[in-house]
Amino acid sequence: MDEARNDSETTRRRWRRTDVPIRIGVSRCLLGDAVRFDGGHKRSRFVSDELGPFVEWVPVCPEVEAGMEIPRPAIRIVQPAGTDDEADQRLVEVKSGRSHTSAMVRYSKSRVGALADEDLCGFVLKKDSPSCGMTRVRVWSEQGGATRDGRGFFARVLEDRMPLLPIEEEGRLEDPQLRERFVTRIFAYRRLKLFFDARWTLGELVIFHTEHKMQLLAHSERRYRELGRIVADAKQRPRSEVRDSYSETFMRALATQATPQRHANVLQHMAGHFRGRLDDESRRELADTIDDHAAGLVPLIVPITLIRHHVRRLGVEYLADQIYLEPHPKELMLRNRI
Ligand code: SF4
Repeated sequence: MDEARNDSETTRRRWRRTDVPIRIGVSRCLLGDAVRFDGGHKRSRFVSDELGPFVEWVPVCPEVEAGMEIPRPAIRIVQPAGTDDEADQRLVEVKSGRSHTSAMVRYSKSRVGALADEDLCGFVLKKDSPSCGMTRVRVWSEQGGATRDGRGFFARVLEDRMPLLPIEEEGRLEDPQLRERFVTRIFAYRRLKLFFDARWTLGELVIFHTEHKMQLLAHSERRYRELGRIVADAKQRPRSEVRDSYSETFMRALATQATPQRHANVLQHMAGHFRGRLDDESRRELADTIDDHAAGLVPLIVPITLIRHHVRRLGVEYLADQIYLEPHPKELMLRNRI
């Protein structure tokens, strides 16, 4: 028991460390740098002012780094006639038709290759850009019409090369649910990396998995059960296979949007740990608060605060260790808005 306890303390010190910088790639114009084609920037208040103090930015401007000037002619993605594959698309200047395709493809492969060694925990991309946009970027036909179903040239290489990396666009981060999910994922990815980048034991993996139980359940019960099977079978498989399949399933679980109903299920599950230890009034108050959140009447922070209060007061150690109670810094106030 003492050994298990020591094991737990050691693990917690390692993957719950908060002094390790959390490095996030970012489209440079979002930080306020004047690198856009028109000589301007697209400073994002959330990126610069709110998330900024908690992360270390790794700024990237694909167009400037690929050799284009500031200011420069506007460029766009064009799908050549008779093709429908993303790989056939071209990156061309709107007015002259001059192609930057090969330069951007070459640059993106080399830059993303270098970024793979930068220990990134996430990436924030500029929406709509033919280089940085992650989703719904305009793709023009040679006749002139456009569809909004493309990916920027740099963004596609980044996504394809680093499939587990949490990536979002600044526009989508205006949505409180997507913002909370993204920040949850970047902090979870750092914990995952801190865990697997050091020497780890199967006992520690059990603790890691157990402490993420409520967080995982809030996103995907199916993936949580899948992860449980990976942990249970870990002894029979090579360690690298366990690490890879646990990491992939863990990040896929957290990529599923947590909904008010899933939060309600998790909160009720946690409330079950207080059974027989709360007076009627406190029990009713907690149940009502959980229902109010599920009905959209109060933000998630309300039932969470009440649960934390009871966990502390009653000394429920199992719940006190749950990441779900504080998956990211409370100063970001993300759960005050969902
Ligand atoms: Fe540079 Fe990307 Fe911003 Fe365009 S969207 S200015 S390529 S960082």
